[in-house]
Amino acid sequence: MDYEVIIAGGSVSGLLCAREIANSGHSVLVIEEDHEIGTPEHCGGVVSVSGIEELGVIPTRGTLENKINSASIISPTGKNFTIDAKAQKVVVLDRRDFDKQIAHQAKNAGAEIRVRTSLKEINGDEVKTSDGIMKCKIIVDARGVSSLINKDREGILQSAQYEVYADWIRKDQIEVYFDQEKYPGFFAWIIPTRTDIAKIGVAGKAINAAVALENFLSQKGKYSIVRKIFAPIWIKGPIENFVSKNIVTIGDAAGQSKPTTAGGIYSCGLGGIFAGRTISKYLESRIQPDLLEYQKTWSEKFGDEFQNMLLARKLFERFDNKAIEKMFESVTPQILDEISKEGKFDFHTFSLAKLLGVKGSVKTVQAILGNEFRRMLT
Ligand SMILES: Cc1cc2nc3c(=O)[nH]c(=O)nc-3n(C[C@H](O)[C@H](O)[C@H](O)COP(=O)(O)OP(=O)(O)OC[C@H]3O[C@@H](n4cnc5c(N)ncnc54)[C@H](O)[C@@H]3O)c2cc1C
Repeated sequence: MDYEVIIAGGSVSGLLCAREIANSGHSVLVIEEDHEIGTPEHCGGVVSVSGIEELGVIPTRGTLENKINSASIISPTGKNFTIDAKAQKVVVLDRRDFDKQIAHQAKNAGAEIRVRTSLKEINGDEVKTSDGIMKCKIIVDARGVSSLINKDREGILQSAQYEVYADWIRKDQIEVYFDQEKYPGFFAWIIPTRTDIAKIGVAGKAINAAVALENFLSQKGKYSIVRKIFAPIWIKGPIENFVSKNIVTIGDAAGQSKPTTAGGIYSCGLGGIFAGRTISKYLESRIQPDLLEYQKTWSEKFGDEFQNMLLARKLFERFDNKAIEKMFESVTPQILDEISKEGKFDFHTFSLAKLLGVKGSVKTVQAILGNEFRRMLT
C-alpha cells in the first residue's frame, strides 16, 4: 500500500477529511488537479461564523474578506425587503486563503498534498493518477460537482460569477435578485468583499449565464471586471449512497450543498469531517458497517433540512414572476423581524417557510410543504 487513503480533490471537503484522517495517525494523500490549492476560486464565500467554527477553522485576517449585516431581496419589478443578518453572524471568506488554511492544518496533522495531480481511474485498490498508479485501502471522491456530471446532469445549473469593481456596491449588504425569466430556478447575487468590490453572479436553468450576468451588470451602472469564473452548481440534494465498497464520496461530489442556494462550505466541510472520522475508525476495525456510519451521521444532521429545502425548491420552481411579486407583497415587518431574530443561516428553511407564508414550527413547515408538494403533483 502506498497510502491508507487517497483523496481526489483538494478543496474544503477533501482537505478537512484529510486533516481528520491524519490526526488519527493514518497515512493520507490528497491529489488536486489544479496547480494551486484554492485557485481558481469558484465560490461566493458566504458562511456563518458558527459554521466555520464547527469546521474547526478560525479564519485569519487574510481569509476573512467581509462581515455581512443584511441581505436585500429584490423582485423582478424592483420591490424589495431587507433582512437584518447581524444575529446570524455571516461573513465572506476568501476561499483561496481559506482552503490554504485547511491545507496547512491537514499538512500539520501529517497529510501529504500534491497539486497538478488528477485522478484518472479507480480499479479496486488501485488508483490511476496523472502521476502514476498508486495503491490504497480507501479512495475518497471529493472532486466536487464535476464528479456528478457523468452521473446526473439534471440537477446541474450553470453559473457565472465575476469579481467586479464598482462604486454602486454596498459594503455590508448581500443583494439577491429573483426573476424567473432571467434566472429560472435560481437568482442573481451581489456579495460584497471589500469597499467597492464584490463577487457578482447568476445561475439558472438553461440560460447562458455569461450573457445573463453581463445584462445584469449593464443595468447597474459603471463597473470593471477583474476576474471571471464559470462553474456548475448542484441543486438536487444528496446522492443515494455516500459509500460504495472502498470508495467514499464527500462534499459537492455527494450532493451535500444546499438545494436552495447551492451553498456548501459548511455542509460539504462537515461531510469531509464526518467521513474522515469514520474512515479512521474503519481503518482500525476493518468492519465494513463502520464505514457506513458516515452517511448516517451526515443524514442525521442535514437530512430533514435538505428534504425541506428540496420541497421549497420544487415550490419555487413552480413560481412565475407574478407569484414572486405576490410573495413580496405579503412580506410584513413582523415576518422580517422573526426571520432576523430566529432564522439560522445554515438551516434556513424556517426563514423560507416564513417568506412563503407558512406559519408554525419546522415540523409544521415540513408537513405543509409536503402537502403543498403532494397537491402540486396531483
Ligand atoms: C459560483 C459559486 C458560488 C458559491 N458560493 C457559495 C457561498 O457563498 N457559500 C457557500 O457555502 N458555498 C458556495 N458555493 C458552493 C461551494 O463552493 C461548494 O459547495 C464547496 O466548495 C464544495 O467543496 P468540495 O470540496 O466538495 O468541492 P469543490 O470545492 O468543488 O472542490 C473539488 C476539487 O476537486 C478538484 N478535482 C476535480 N476533479 C479532480 C480530479 N479528477 N482529480 C483531482 N482533483 C480533482 C477540483 O479542482 C477542486 O479543487 C458556491 C459555488 C459556486 C459554483
